Amino acid sequence: MPHPLTPLRVDTVVKPGSGAVERVDADICVVGAGIAGIQAALEARRLGRRVVLVDALPVLGGQCVNSLIGLFCGVYGNGPEYRQLTHGIFDAMFADLGASGDIHVNVSRTKTVSYDEVVLGRWIEQRVHESGVQPVLGASLFQVRREAGRILSATFATRHGLVEVTAAGFVDASGDAALTWEAGLACRVPERTVWGSQQIRIEGIDETAMPDAADLVERVDAKADEYGLVRRDGLAFVYPGRHTAVMNMTHVEAPLSAVAASRAQLEGRDQADRVVRFLRREFPAAFGDARVRAYGFPGRRQTRWIASEHMLTVDEVRSGRRFEDAVARTAWPIELHDRPEGYVWETFGPEHVHYVPLRSMIPRGSDNVVAAGRCVDGDAAALSSVRVMGACAAMGFAAAHVLDMAGDSRAADVDPAELADRVRENVGDE
Ligand SMILES: Cc1cc2nc3c(=O)[nH]c(=O)nc-3n(C[C@H](O)[C@H](O)[C@H](O)COP(=O)(O)OP(=O)(O)OC[C@H]3O[C@@H](n4cnc5c(N)ncnc54)[C@H](O)[C@@H]3O)c2cc1C
Repeated sequence: MPHPLTPLRVDTVVKPGSGAVERVDADICVVGAGIAGIQAALEARRLGRRVVLVDALPVLGGQCVNSLIGLFCGVYGNGPEYRQLTHGIFDAMFADLGASGDIHVNVSRTKTVSYDEVVLGRWIEQRVHESGVQPVLGASLFQVRREAGRILSATFATRHGLVEVTAAGFVDASGDAALTWEAGLACRVPERTVWGSQQIRIEGIDETAMPDAADLVERVDAKADEYGLVRRDGLAFVYPGRHTAVMNMTHVEAPLSAVAASRAQLEGRDQADRVVRFLRREFPAAFGDARVRAYGFPGRRQTRWIASEHMLTVDEVRSGRRFEDAVARTAWPIELHDRPEGYVWETFGPEHVHYVPLRSMIPRGSDNVVAAGRCVDGDAAALSSVRVMGACAAMGFAAAHVLDMAGDSRAADVDPAELADRVRENVGDE
């Protein structure tokens, strides 16, 4: 039954004098709600801290949900043992999504985990909601208040006005080192573009007729000019039983300017459409009926990252150097997308593991910021091997513990033995 109309007064309002800012206080403020920031926020909350989690997007999940990455890499070591290298968030996530049939484990040289990004997105939202982490979404970093080495507060611009978050410690999980940059601390940028990608999820594929990976790459390379494809290789992550796949077949610039980034986004979508045209025509048995179900938000790999006291090097990655202050590990290959037509791929042996030290996560000159995820410090090749989601989450986990231990003192001064004990599940005992 529709309800009868009752009086509803309408008021006329005018914005009050300038300077209205919503203020929030926390122990730890996490900037960026991708896999690194989500893990940092949940762990800091589990440790009893008051946590504010801020993101420029109006939704949680960063790239792992919204850029349609589709595959957790670097959580496990290489075969034949396939050791789980990172625990934390993945234990509960894989258990829950495994039980509902929304992940699929792939085993080859290493072990990766495909996921349904819609289900993962809701899982993350539910975990954040029930944890008591305070999210502030649709909030882009606007200004940082810093006194010597300490960030006192960060102000964000939202559609509803400004929000200022004061906190004892900050996690820069923004992917682009946005907090470190805005605080006026040193950052690094690659000499030449590290290419991003426009991911798409396509539906209507025939999984039984899929070309093998080498055939796909060979055909792309042969026909790239005909179809106007920038990248001359590509990957298809098929989700078995659902007739869908995530296609990672474009190379798009990931600029740090708003105008150029917006232009690149549209160029990326054009590239994705050309990829679909190519797939439908060249592999009609598998892709003849394929259509785009979703275009991801622009995928950004390595854009701008922090400058710390220790830039992780490719030699340290290759040799598997175990640092005293190691807080994360992975066995993922060097995967450097530093050319439009393809990428460098350098794999490691069965026993190989490499590490991220805490020193590579603390911006030079800062007392209370810890970076986590794809904006920690490394040379371009080293970073390409630790920016996969397994290691990003491990870094988020460690960032939470470091700031929990540091309180009002310096993050760099936390007791290394206690930290090692706290992050043992993600770095092992060796
Ligand atoms: C195309 C592509 C394919 C990939 N494939 C794989 C794969 O198969 N498997 C794998 O494990 N990894 C893969 N990676 C790498 C991996 O996805 C990313 O490195 C990882 O997701 C980064 O996580 P993060 O939490 O560090 O950052 P992000 O997920 O990038 O999250 C950063 C968050 O910070 C927010 N933010 C940024 N600036 C501001 C600001 N100024 N104010 C407020 N918020 C801000 C952003 O909105 C974003 O949500 C891929 C990456 C790309 C781009």
